[in-house]
Amino acid sequence: MGMDEKSFEERMLECGTMLSMAQTVDAQENWDAVACFQPFFGFGRLVMRRTDAAHGQVLRELVYYEDEREVELHPFEFTSKEYHGVDVTYLVYPAVGEPFWTGAEARKLMFCLMMLHQANERQELVHDSIFYRYHDPQTHHTNMNFYADRCDEYIKNHTIADYTALAVNLSNFTNLNLKIGSGNCDTVLVKYMNLLKGGLDEDEVVSRYSGDQFALLIHKEHLDQILEILRGVNIQYGPDKQDVVLISAEAGIYNLHNEVSNYHHIIQAISSALNTAKNSIQLQFAYYDRSTVDSALRRKYFESQFEKALKHEDIQIYFQPKVSLKDYELIGAEALSRWIVDGKVVPPDSFIPILEETSRICQLDFYVLEHVCRSMHSWISHGVKPVKVSVNFSRRHLSNQNLVREIVAVLDRYEVPHQYLEVELTETTIDADFEALKSLVYELRENGIEASVDDFGTGYSSLSLIRDVPFKVLKIDKSFLGDANMQSARERSMIKHVISMASDLGMDCICEGVESMEHVQLLKENKCYMAQGYFFNRPLPQDEFEQVLLG
Ligand code: C2E
Ligand code: MG
Ligand code: MG
Repeated sequence: MGMDEKSFEERMLECGTMLSMAQTVDAQENWDAVACFQPFFGFGRLVMRRTDAAHGQVLRELVYYEDEREVELHPFEFTSKEYHGVDVTYLVYPAVGEPFWTGAEARKLMFCLMMLHQANERQELVHDSIFYRYHDPQTHHTNMNFYADRCDEYIKNHTIADYTALAVNLSNFTNLNLKIGSGNCDTVLVKYMNLLKGGLDEDEVVSRYSGDQFALLIHKEHLDQILEILRGVNIQYGPDKQDVVLISAEAGIYNLHNEVSNYHHIIQAISSALNTAKNSIQLQFAYYDRSTVDSALRRKYFESQFEKALKHEDIQIYFQPKVSLKDYELIGAEALSRWIVDGKVVPPDSFIPILEETSRICQLDFYVLEHVCRSMHSWISHGVKPVKVSVNFSRRHLSNQNLVREIVAVLDRYEVPHQYLEVELTETTIDADFEALKSLVYELRENGIEASVDDFGTGYSSLSLIRDVPFKVLKIDKSFLGDANMQSARERSMIKHVISMASDLGMDCICEGVESMEHVQLLKENKCYMAQGYFFNRPLPQDEFEQVLLG
């Protein structure tokens, strides 16, 4: 007989009071509630076992009160199956008297254990809501919330540079699911994660990202040991020796440094490196290349901020003077875009190619034209004689039937005489574009606006282009000049012939990229009398250019 003389009802009443007390003190350990039962029911050992209902795997076993009785004891067993796929089993051993419970005692114990179970479950819920915030319910390893918190903590402590981050993807895991079944695959996952985590310290992290992907945060000196596992390991998933699979994984690796400022950047970096590894036939591991992601970020920035930059005039117009080589007087200027980001001047090479992928470039060109016309209007109204200013127009405009009408509308709105604008166009290799270019240049000419071929000599169909399209100006690309002292006879001869051909065709010829006195000499010898380049001026902000204009 395991219970003392008090009536069952009396004991339940006292027990309920104790139970509510145990709960109100916010017991950390689920089992604190149990303590109140023992004196009243006289039980000895109590075991609570939580098992995964699907696989029978024991998740947790707690033993309360060890008993020292020599005889073999027969516990009362009660199992509750109702909680989140987890079975909870209680085993209650009698502390005194017979080594087994009588039927009447067992019925009473049943009530008692149901109460205990309810109390326990309530606390388990609290525990789980904390546990599953940071753990993956399937593998019970940590999840990405945990990973994010560790990253942020190490960034804050300035220890992040001690770590390497990895994104890991198990190879062919989908096929493995088909081959050995999802239950066995789950076992493989858990074992694999245990293996990864096994050789690491407390502060290192192995978190489940999704399905068969993990994120790791490890000490730099542990990278080799982790890569050794990723190259391939055998994992046993069943009781038989043959129940073994070889698991290998691809990884994206990022050697962290002190400038890393947030978790999102780390995730983006390792994911992009992992993608490189996954898309490569030869590479199993890819290291994050800062420049790749930086350029992706830059692209995103320019695309998303473009409208705002136009509105707030963060894109500014610089003017680069064009100079006569006869008297070194100012004869014109080229308008060039500069994007001001955080007070820094970003040159067009960084953003023009991105804008050129969409019609944003057309918006930019009209924005430049508008600013140029506004400036010219202001110069004229202040009695300053303007010079001809050239504006670059992208080839993307060629599909716009109304282009010339729209250009003229801007000029007229600011009352700028048409001869003060020059439109710079680059060469084209596409036939359809060629026809469009030809009619565009004709139409501009009909409206008193001159056009120039920009970067002449860098494209292809140069000769038919200048034969068939009535360009007024030929701009020889800076690559023709090179180092004037080092030029070969062949290059000198090419410059000479390009210049004389332009003059035979009745075109004006200007050379860009003039950087030295030698360049000036070379051009003059060949009778090219217009130049643009650093030797005279760099592209200048509007106020500085106005100083030059005023002489
Ligand atoms: P581009 O039209 O050929 O402009 C001349 C480029 O040569 C300018 O580069 C100018 O700064 C540079 N340059 C001038 N003198 C020298 C020199 O002596 N030496 C060297 N090495 N370079 C010199 P920038 O301003 O960087 O512009 C690059 C290109 O971006 C321009 O080439 C043009 O094609 C394009 N671009 C600039 N602004 C606009 C725009 O508003 N619209 C369009 N569609 N394109 C633009
Ligand atoms: Mg140009
Ligand atoms: Mg050019």
